[in-house]
Amino acid sequence: MQALVDALCTLSSRDALTGLANRRHFEAALAAEIDRVARAGEAALLLLLDIDHFKKVNDTYGHPAGDAVLRAVAGSLADCVRPMDTVARFGGEEFAVILPNCEPAFGHTVAERIRAGIHTRSVPVAPGVALQVTVSIGGAFAPKWVRTSAALWIERADQQLYRAKAAGRNRTHLEMPPVTSVSAEEKGLLFAASAFQDLDP
Ligand code: GH3
Ligand code: MG
Ligand code: MG
Repeated sequence: MQALVDALCTLSSRDALTGLANRRHFEAALAAEIDRVARAGEAALLLLLDIDHFKKVNDTYGHPAGDAVLRAVAGSLADCVRPMDTVARFGGEEFAVILPNCEPAFGHTVAERIRAGIHTRSVPVAPGVALQVTVSIGGAFAPKWVRTSAALWIERADQQLYRAKAAGRNRTHLEMPPVTSVSAEEKGLLFAASAFQDLDP
């Protein structure tokens, strides 16, 4: 019975082709991350990736070759991230990565490491033929201490993905969060004030 339950859980949360989280699991993970950012003010980055000129792979080498490329990109993504990150197949040849606890100063480095990992892997698609594919990446940070919506966060990352495509593909564009006018010291005072209230009789 337990094995059956486990198998059903996997079926409902994994993408059959790549083994990554599916869209349903991604949406649940994104909602949980929005909660954490609103409650704890943690930095979190959402990346959307789209394979460049992927249609050409299908058209030139056939659909099974396209599938092999999708699996290779998925494998590369899974190898590049931390256990706490969520890597999902977002749509046909689009992927999404949720990176909790990722400070803006590191965002670009992380995204570029992912992009380079995919670019440097070659995928055998036919006897004697190996392809190197590239991805364009768009990313956006969740606004700290604010409860954004999944749709808005995805939309902001998608705008950056569009910019990466328009600028020539095989590159990363990130929307950086606005510099907050509330200092760390002021945030500390906010909590200190509530601690005083707790002590009142
Ligand atoms: P761009 O650089 O602008 O992203 O161009 P593109 O060719 O990657 O973009 P486009 O959206 O035109 O092509 C996406 C293709 O992905 C079209 C569709 O047939 C293919 N595709 C979607 N899902 C799968 C899949 O599961 N397997 C395979 N082999 N192909 C898929
Ligand atoms: Mg696409
Ligand atoms: Mg594409």
